Amino acid sequence: MGKRYSIFYLLLNLILIILFGVSLFTDNLTVVNIIIFSIVLIVQVGLVNYFKVLHQDIEKKVVDTEKDLMATEEKIKHERYFDDITELPNERYLLAKIKENLHANSSDKAVLVFEIDRLSSIKSFLGSVYSDCLLRNVAQRLQEQLSDQLIIGKLRDDQFVILIDHYENHDDILNFCSQLQSIMETPFEIQYSSLNNSLNIGISFYPKDAESELDLIKFAQIAAYEARNTHEHILFYEESMSDVRTVKVTLENDLFNALKNNELFLVYQPQVNTMTGEISSMEALVRWQHPKRGLISPGEFIPVAEESGLINPIGKWVLETACYETKKLQDHLGRSVKIAVNLSLCQLFQGDFVQTVKQILEKTGLSPQSLQLELTESMTMNTDHLTPILHDLKSLGVTLAVDDFGTGYSSLSYLRDLPIDCLKIDCSFVKNIRPDTSNEPIVDMIISMAKHLNLKVVAEGVEEITQFNYLMKSKCDFIQGYLFSRPITIEQISNTLCDVQRKTREMIQSLQEQHTHEAVRKSL
Ligand code: C2E
Ligand code: CA
Ligand code: CA
Repeated sequence: MGKRYSIFYLLLNLILIILFGVSLFTDNLTVVNIIIFSIVLIVQVGLVNYFKVLHQDIEKKVVDTEKDLMATEEKIKHERYFDDITELPNERYLLAKIKENLHANSSDKAVLVFEIDRLSSIKSFLGSVYSDCLLRNVAQRLQEQLSDQLIIGKLRDDQFVILIDHYENHDDILNFCSQLQSIMETPFEIQYSSLNNSLNIGISFYPKDAESELDLIKFAQIAAYEARNTHEHILFYEESMSDVRTVKVTLENDLFNALKNNELFLVYQPQVNTMTGEISSMEALVRWQHPKRGLISPGEFIPVAEESGLINPIGKWVLETACYETKKLQDHLGRSVKIAVNLSLCQLFQGDFVQTVKQILEKTGLSPQSLQLELTESMTMNTDHLTPILHDLKSLGVTLAVDDFGTGYSSLSYLRDLPIDCLKIDCSFVKNIRPDTSNEPIVDMIISMAKHLNLKVVAEGVEEITQFNYLMKSKCDFIQGYLFSRPITIEQISNTLCDVQRKTREMIQSLQEQHTHEAVRKSL
């Protein structure tokens, strides 16, 4: 652009000089010529000013764009290296910083990991707005009251890390831990509530315990976990600390990344209607494809997720994925299929759980009548807290089932107080139904009680035809088990549903014929 205009001006000036020269030479400098020259000169001065402003404008824009780019780069860098809640350095930053520090000099160092005791319960009971606020306040207090020479950072969830790059003896560290605990002693005022906090502190030493930054943090985490069960809530890492704990901490760290890395997936197990043989519902069961260990069952990782609070994001992902995939299956089949989703207690006590369910149903387009939420009996112990939540869920239109019925809780009064729609007979009772079983009192009792209370019954873990036969005769409404199908992916469900349904109908028909023969034989 600039070059083109310079050439334009050069040419214009050249023409003016030539014209001026010619008029001088021909002694032809008339008033008209002078007026024309003046106009041309005025226009030229105007144009020069105009392009000067334009140039300044472009220059300003270039500078602004550069500034924007730098700000974006800074923001990306900040997001990469800083925790978004507390603004403290994050794990990535810490690992790099500790590594750098370990090699900087040869002095002995200590890594402290501390966690806020019971943060996951605070999160469950008061919601993440409170827990995030608490974390921010803790971070602020640490920054205000500890030396700014210290490297302080935030690990995932409720854990913080401090690197002490020089110490004389263990007493130095213990004094520092007491200082940390006293910093947290004054309650935090959060949204009109006063929260008391205690810390669990774990310490690992370089080079005694480990030489790598990863191991130092992991060992300090293990010690912090163990510190939960001590009087002082402070522990130095020892090799003897259980391998089980090491496995758990590793699993917890891996689980944290599993959601981000799409390592979790759902499988579905059909529930067969014992009267019609139709598959009108299924249960969603989560699986974890671990990059190193392969497939891990929920029996192993759900308790870890519950203990660490990770069950909330995982549970939300399960709910959303199950609703989304079921809606797709319904559209493909052109009919309704119900989906049962397992819940953990922490999920129910998250302040916004009912709202979350509502939003997921709206987002995925699944009708509330197609969703059944499964609670376990142990959850029903907390009736006072649970009743309003369950009523709110019911008013959305979803149904509620009690899982593993008969294994958990002694009082059955909750069946009267809570808005339950369905009972699931636990596998262990179904297993008791053997080929020679003429009656299985617990199964009979559960079915009869459910009928009285107008509840549906699902029997789980049905592997044998004799078990199916018994349950069918006892008027159990739905059956779930390997006899019909193992839990499979939604694509497999979609492809095999008709086959499973046909086989089930054949099985039901042959059993019904058998029942008629038996009845006839008895009457003779
Ligand atoms: P559950 O809810 O009682 O699920 C039934 C379990 O029985 C499943 O184990 C299923 O694979 C297994 N099963 C089904 N039919 C048969 C059978 O015929 N024989 C035998 N032996 N087992 C059968 P899975 O998938 O390993 O799940 C274990 C538990 O993990 C579940 O028990 C549930 O409590 C929990 N879980 C699974 N997915 C989730 C989830 O998304 N959220 C939560 N909170 N818990 C989940
Ligand atoms: Ca279940
Ligand atoms: Ca169960």
